Amino acid sequence: MDQEIRLQDVIQTRKPHPCGSDTWVVIRTGADIKMKCQGCGRIVMLDRMVFLKRRKKVLQQGIAPAAPGEEQSTDE
Ligand SMILES: [Zn+2]
Repeated sequence: MDQEIRLQDVIQTRKPHPCGSDTWVVIRTGADIKMKCQGCGRIVMLDRMVFLKRRKKVLQQGIAPAAPGEEQSTDE
């Protein structure tokens, strides 16, 4: 199973949020994952393991991680 987590992944959870939506956008990756509900905008932070357990599928893949050795400019 693909365990990759990318920023801005749109994912579907096994159980829907109480608001009725079951799709989320990943807004932070790392040891803890932050994701935002597409239905109500609620942001939750989950342990990476917990996130992977709750994730049912990736609906849309987010930003690809920068290739090693390749400089990428950030426009922030
Ligand atoms: Zn919600």
